[in-house]
Amino acid sequence: MEFKVIRLFVLFVATAKAQVNPEVCRYPLGMTGGQIQDEDISASSYWSESTAAKFGRQLLFHFYFSVSLCGQISLPERSSHCFYLFFFRLDIGGGDGAWCPDIMSEPHGLKEYLQVDLRSLHFITLVGTQGRHADGMGNEFAQRYRIKYSRDGSNWVSWQDRKGQQVIEGNRNAYDVVLKDLEPPIIARYVRFMPVTDHSMIVCMRVELYGCEWLDGLVSYNIPDGQQMIYRDLEVSFNDSVYDGASAEGLTKGLGQLTDGTWGLDDFLHSHIYGVWPGYDYVGWSNRTFPKGYVEMIFDFDHVRNFTSMKVHSSNMFSRGVRVFRQVTCFFRSDSEWEPGPVTFRPTPDRVSQRARFVTVTLGDRTAKTIKCRFHFNDVWMLFSEVAFQSGSAVYNTSIGPGKHPKNTLPVDDPTHKVDDSNTRILIGCLVAIIAILSAIIVIMLWRQVWQKMLEKASRRLLDDDLTARLAIQNRAFSFRHSSLSSDSGSTSNSTYERIYPLCADYQEPSRLIRKLPEFANSTENLKSSSLCTAATASGSDGAPHYAEADIISLQESSDSSITAVNMSPFTGTDPAMREFPREKLSFKEKLGEGQFGEVHLCEAEGMQDFLDEDLSTEEISKSPLLVAVKTLREDANKNARNDFLKEIRIMSRLRDPNIVRLLAVCVDTDLLWMITEYMENGDLNQFLCNLRLNEAPDEDKPEQEEEKGDSISYIKLISMAVQIASGMKYLASLNFVHRDLATRNCLVGKNYTIRIADFGMSRNLYKGDYYRIQGRAVLPIRWMSWESILLGKFTMASDVWAFGVTLWEILTLCKEQPYSQLSDEQVIENTGEFFRDKGKQVYLPKPPCCPDTVYNDLMLTCWRRNAKQRPSFQEMHAQLQESMSA
Ligand code: AMP
Repeated sequence: MEFKVIRLFVLFVATAKAQVNPEVCRYPLGMTGGQIQDEDISASSYWSESTAAKFGRQLLFHFYFSVSLCGQISLPERSSHCFYLFFFRLDIGGGDGAWCPDIMSEPHGLKEYLQVDLRSLHFITLVGTQGRHADGMGNEFAQRYRIKYSRDGSNWVSWQDRKGQQVIEGNRNAYDVVLKDLEPPIIARYVRFMPVTDHSMIVCMRVELYGCEWLDGLVSYNIPDGQQMIYRDLEVSFNDSVYDGASAEGLTKGLGQLTDGTWGLDDFLHSHIYGVWPGYDYVGWSNRTFPKGYVEMIFDFDHVRNFTSMKVHSSNMFSRGVRVFRQVTCFFRSDSEWEPGPVTFRPTPDRVSQRARFVTVTLGDRTAKTIKCRFHFNDVWMLFSEVAFQSGSAVYNTSIGPGKHPKNTLPVDDPTHKVDDSNTRILIGCLVAIIAILSAIIVIMLWRQVWQKMLEKASRRLLDDDLTARLAIQNRAFSFRHSSLSSDSGSTSNSTYERIYPLCADYQEPSRLIRKLPEFANSTENLKSSSLCTAATASGSDGAPHYAEADIISLQESSDSSITAVNMSPFTGTDPAMREFPREKLSFKEKLGEGQFGEVHLCEAEGMQDFLDEDLSTEEISKSPLLVAVKTLREDANKNARNDFLKEIRIMSRLRDPNIVRLLAVCVDTDLLWMITEYMENGDLNQFLCNLRLNEAPDEDKPEQEEEKGDSISYIKLISMAVQIASGMKYLASLNFVHRDLATRNCLVGKNYTIRIADFGMSRNLYKGDYYRIQGRAVLPIRWMSWESILLGKFTMASDVWAFGVTLWEILTLCKEQPYSQLSDEQVIENTGEFFRDKGKQVYLPKPPCCPDTVYNDLMLTCWRRNAKQRPSFQEMHAQLQESMSA
């Protein structure tokens, strides 16, 4: 009954939205839970009966838990509110605790495998491996392994990552689970884990697969080879780079990018995926090589199905000759003959929006096992990134032959497939018990908090008054408008979609943490002065977290966060940057980039001169119309995004420094929120450097003009950029402003290698891979974050210094790879734990080839010191870098 409900739900979801979302499709497929039966786990060989294939189930579960880690951290007073990693072990296995192949029987040990039959096609996004622990008796594990997969049990494909690498780093010990994101994901029924080892070492494995059922039923597609576009001297390749079938005169009998669950960005030159070539997300064709005016694709399915629709994700960048197809005609075949009466569909042409989109093609409930579609060009190019099919459940089960397993049924429908649910019951029992214990802990914590709050209420009010008063005096530069305070009230902290502040309540409310610090707890005077996160901690003390941003906002404006409650009056004040600019005087030229919540456009602004500060360069501003960058917020942005956008405006309006991007004016008179900033001709520093190579020759050998024209850059220029970033950060530090997301992607490059720090809003699409999603609720740039920011949620100037070290590393490697590119996100977090433990096991970013020893040892490495107090200040680093330039 329970399973039927689940199945109905799954089928409903399948019909409503068949395209897979790899971020959600990450369910354990049943090695651990027992849904995969023993008879579906086989192996090439095994060492002994007690290490047979069926013992290759992964057994360890892990969660995040508070007490263990918070208990180890030497906070002045241990926080009972912290929630961090927690491990939970549950051994339900038998035998000797893992599958161990008989390596000796096969000389190189390379052909041994553990095979899992999932009984139907699955979309597999993640795999987990573990060694043989057997309660401390075992110590065998696979350090490296490969994966092979098959959809039909006869054609096997070796999995490889997007860079062509087949070998996966496995376990380092016999007990920890190591998870590996499969990028690209696999669509398969059979999966083989193949340990890579020499025969001197016995290996044992326990495994789990994560993903979801592949309800499309598509087993292969045949398409012509993707082609190459030359766009402004840039080679843009639209090949299907992860296709797993044959490739002779077109691609046949495989699946690839059109089914990998990754949808292309609006701008096809960019990709969600880090370090790939322009056009990577799309497979595309030019009409010049298709005289008939259409591209033909053939889709083969696992069995005869009733098709309701097909969704095609397509680019519509008509400014570059790309448009959604004009018409598609689909033919259907259930046996050997194509049926008469194809279905034709013409999408409504969109000449306004260049957004990539899913086009839904109605297929009128036609029955077929194979579909052939002809997509007609509507412009020079046609680019697709995903094709998904919706088919009804009516024809499920039709192809079960005698003696065969039913294909594409849920395992519970298979009468031969008895689910051994005894383990599941134990598991459910344990989980219920854990949930009950956790609920009890939460209730106790909440109860304690209520009491604590009541007791502290009076003193906190005093403290906050004091904070407001001092800031008003000390930060005149910010010219807070207290008038807006009166209209707004509440707290600023309900924005959780991007920036999370910490799992630990103490760090969400600095004043509470400060009260706990002994050095501040001694006297009320100390307590008050030290709690001035934005002003009084300028010393860089890492005792009190700097929440400058939050404080700037909360002190000068509303924050209850309802957009209607945000008083717009601050925008009409005397601050020039906050002045409303007439929208009609802006004419859009081209799209510069895209964030998660909006776009950035290059515009001409008529009469902008009247809006500019006197300190801006007169030569530049005398030009009319002036070129500016306009950052827009999507119309459909949610309340949190709107509030963060407004926050970013307010913060930027107060920052004035040659190395901080300048806000010129705003358009906030309607629901469409725009901010106008100065235009930086060379875009963001990451892309700028990524396209360059290092000029090895000393600077004198190459005149400046020559270098600027070419595709190379000298070491001195790189350091001069780092000097500018250090200078901008020095300015922010003087305001006790913590950036929290310093990285090359957030620095902009203007003429003559001018750098300005930008992005006070932390939202990224293009650089999605740089951010780590925690349980779907927040994204964090973990590769740039200090250990204390990740583990304690503590963002200070010293954590900005850490990020500066990583940014300097990016600059000196010319952004050719992501920091710690060889580590998965999970491994980066593990490494953070090593920084915390400080037992010498932490991995540092290596010295970039062009980086002198002094810069690496005396500067870069010092940014990553465990003790935040021992990290250098921006002032020191600025001086040091300047010195290294003249040396
Ligand atoms: P953002 O949403 O602010 O992160 O911006 C997205 C992209 O737009 C950046 O990566 C830059 O390539 C581009 N961009 C943003 N602001 C500017 C600017 N002021 N001048 C030139 N390009 C910009």
